[in-house]
Amino acid sequence: MKIFKFGGASVMDAAGVKNLVSVLEKVGYKDTLVVVSAMGKSTNALEEIIEQYFQDKTKTPAALLPLKEYHLQIINDLFQEQKAEVVAVVHELFAELHTFLKSNKSPDYSFVYDQVVSFGELLSTNIIHYFLLNQGLDSFWLDARNCIKTDDYYRAANLNWELTQSNIQSQIGSASLVITQGFIGSDSNNFTTTLGREGSDYSAAIFGYALNAESVTIWKDVPGVLNGDPREFQNTRLLHQISYREAIELAFYGASVIHPKTLQPLQRKEIPLFVKSFENPLESGTSVSKGKTLDPHIPCYIVKKDQVLIRLSSIDFSFIVEENISYIFGLLHEYQMPVELIQNSAISFSVCVNNKYKRLEELILVLRSRFNVDVTEGVDLFTIRHFDTKASQFINQKGKQVLLEQRTSETAQFVISV
Ligand code: ADP
Ligand code: ASP
Ligand code: MG
Repeated sequence: MKIFKFGGASVMDAAGVKNLVSVLEKVGYKDTLVVVSAMGKSTNALEEIIEQYFQDKTKTPAALLPLKEYHLQIINDLFQEQKAEVVAVVHELFAELHTFLKSNKSPDYSFVYDQVVSFGELLSTNIIHYFLLNQGLDSFWLDARNCIKTDDYYRAANLNWELTQSNIQSQIGSASLVITQGFIGSDSNNFTTTLGREGSDYSAAIFGYALNAESVTIWKDVPGVLNGDPREFQNTRLLHQISYREAIELAFYGASVIHPKTLQPLQRKEIPLFVKSFENPLESGTSVSKGKTLDPHIPCYIVKKDQVLIRLSSIDFSFIVEENISYIFGLLHEYQMPVELIQNSAISFSVCVNNKYKRLEELILVLRSRFNVDVTEGVDLFTIRHFDTKASQFINQKGKQVLLEQRTSETAQFVISV
């Protein structure tokens, strides 16, 4: 079995869906499982609807209309005939969503989030499934929630690998071309869960792992993994080969082209991951597999924007040692602050964090009761893997103030004020 994953940008309109079919036709689709995300920016749109639902429930029905129109328009552009069935499915899905929102009594934001946001993937995969059939491809639509079993940590659910693996193997049966959703799963009560934003790459890896796939390919709007995000850096170059270890490091430091959780399951079974262009599907792209660390071996640039630098120092000049550090980490965990970088000296401790869950103010309040606290919001964290002198000069050339710098033999990191 081969696994393909198409992200939201690749299926943002009818032309994208047609291109997906043309990719399948060009590269072959026998024994292929296709994981698809929500179309375009549907997940963001659904997030806004949830936000509004919690503020003013009366406005929800109207807020859903543009999203419905968007999907109906894509259907209109895709189908000349045989569209009644897919239109009916879309109406049904929106009716189901309305019913949920009308009858829901749960005040749990994350629970509601998962029940609602998952409709993006259900809509996209249904539309694409019917279009594949319409084009003569014998597609089998699989509800990922019947396969991917998780705990009930809504919005970032954790996988039950054993159950998931046996479900996937039994649900696929003899189907040769399967289409399913990325990002979503279900808990032991069969409530929908999600794996975290951008989690469809991870879904593809889960299916790959469970099916002992020969490869997983994620189709992107870039030629493969480049040595920097082309939206942020100029003259980027394609990386032809990356080892699992190096790819895990790059994804961890923020190379957002691959979701960080994607690589571990593939590495365990040595399943190669290909990152290829959905515009030029026959080009080789990037291979993440056992082998050379990096080919070509060049510096890789990563930037994480809008981070927070917190600098703590002891009030009475006492040392900041194990006990205080473990207290600080306890708080960072409690206030859900992903830690990007740390540095300490005798009486000070600096940490660069991601205020993802918007709990910075609460955290700072608690920290101030024990330390002098200095906070700089909106900083950029630059990471250069395999840096050389030229690569390091790049930071100075930017003419920005370096607030913190850290180097190991492979990685240089800079916190920069914007
Ligand atoms: P998907 O549609 O699968 O969700 P994403 O938008 O998440 O795709 O990922 C593709 C984008 O990742 C590219 O358009 C590019 O701007 C960005 N990106 C970030 N880092 C890199 C990198 N090192 N190489 C290639 N693209 C990168
Ligand atoms: N649709 C989800 C998101 O936008 C999952 C994904 O695209 O990977 O985050
Ligand atoms: Mg993405």
